[in-house]
Amino acid sequence: MRQIVIVGAGECGARAAFALREKGFDGEITLIGAEPLLPYERPPLSKDGLAAAAAPKFVAAPERYREAKIAVLTGTAVEAIGRARKTVTLSDGRSFAYDRLLLATGARPRALPGMPGNSARIRMLRTHADALTIRAALAPGLKLAIIGGGFIGLELAATARRLGAEVVLVEGQPRILSRGVPEEIAAVVAERHRQEGVEIICGAGIAAIEEGADGASLLLAVGGRIDADLVVVGVGAVPNSELAEAAGLMIDNGIAVDERLCTSDPDILAAGDCCSFPLSHYGGRRVRLEAWRNAQDQGALAAANLMGAGEHIASVPWFWSDQYELTLQISGLAEGTAATVRRELEEGAFILFHLDGEGRLIAASGIGPGNAVARDIRLAEMLIAAGAKPDPQALASPEIRLKKLLAA
Ligand code: NAP
Repeated sequence: MRQIVIVGAGECGARAAFALREKGFDGEITLIGAEPLLPYERPPLSKDGLAAAAAPKFVAAPERYREAKIAVLTGTAVEAIGRARKTVTLSDGRSFAYDRLLLATGARPRALPGMPGNSARIRMLRTHADALTIRAALAPGLKLAIIGGGFIGLELAATARRLGAEVVLVEGQPRILSRGVPEEIAAVVAERHRQEGVEIICGAGIAAIEEGADGASLLLAVGGRIDADLVVVGVGAVPNSELAEAAGLMIDNGIAVDERLCTSDPDILAAGDCCSFPLSHYGGRRVRLEAWRNAQDQGALAAANLMGAGEHIASVPWFWSDQYELTLQISGLAEGTAATVRRELEEGAFILFHLDGEGRLIAASGIGPGNAVARDIRLAEMLIAAGAKPDPQALASPEIRLKKLLAA
């Protein structure tokens, strides 16, 4: 095997390219991305990176690609995969042959149905260019309306308040962070935003957005109107699976892969936000994770399996979010929780442990200032990976160290 082509030059694709070299692959590696920049990290784009409006945090410096002999084609879209001849065709008409192909095409922001996507007063946030555009508008006194109380919307709200903007956030569900974040933790986040002067309106769908020369107005389905200088839409993401679909690969909430990240074509793997996969820790349940750590882990796993290692996905999902001084961390998946145990930590921090009907730890969700929950969430992740059934009383007792439960 001499030629590996990676489509998608984000966190996942770049990690896969470097991991191939670390694992000793000495053939050609071509990394192709539609964005004009070398691969960069997206998490800062709604946090410090947005406030600083600086250059993106690159996954690696340009010389590292040269040293590793990774050919990077930026600003280049792949238009088609020719599975019979094993080639990819680019937007500029060139084509590249592959022995093995990795699709790390990521996801893109979901547009509000029937409403404009990016326009002068209505923006979405996914790329460094999006962040620069939004940052240029953010100024003290700017009226910012955010649609969506997920991670993008809330992190942007915190950053915008730091920069002095006035923020109203509208969420369609009865509460913010309804996907995968427990209510007790979402309540802490909501209260912290309210202390900072963010107005949060839940249970309010958007009937229409009216855009004018100086601003835009949200018309709420429940009645009422919000006038803003800028509207940012953060209502979720959709996987970039069209290329795979056009090539006849199996699709199921993104590109469907097996436990080794193989698509329905054994010479094509997929990894990161764009694919759904079975999670062995959760009875083989098929999930698609839009998360930074997952992109990294699957990039490395894809590299091993492109080289024929046949390794299985083994990592436990992990998410984090920073808003003001608070950090929220979640490991595992809490769906299927039968009992929840709360452990109080220092500085007002706490962790919720989620147990299934058999007492098995399936998730842990924590919130607190700075790194207050980091160590225990890490240990919880190890307990989840081990399939542990820890004593609920011990979980609730901060004086009993989780490390001890791991050894039990
Ligand atoms: P998200 O976390 O899925 O949250 C979107 C929220 O908007 C959901 O609560 C959604 O509710 C709501 N919504 C949907 N349609 C709406 C409408 N018409 N009006 C009002 N609210 C509506 O997605 P996101 O915050 O947009 O993030 C986009 C991507 O960036 C995701 O991949 C996310 O994981 C990633 N990201 C991650 C982090 C992090 O991990 N810290 C930070 C930033 C971004 P429904 O559930 O009903 O659709």
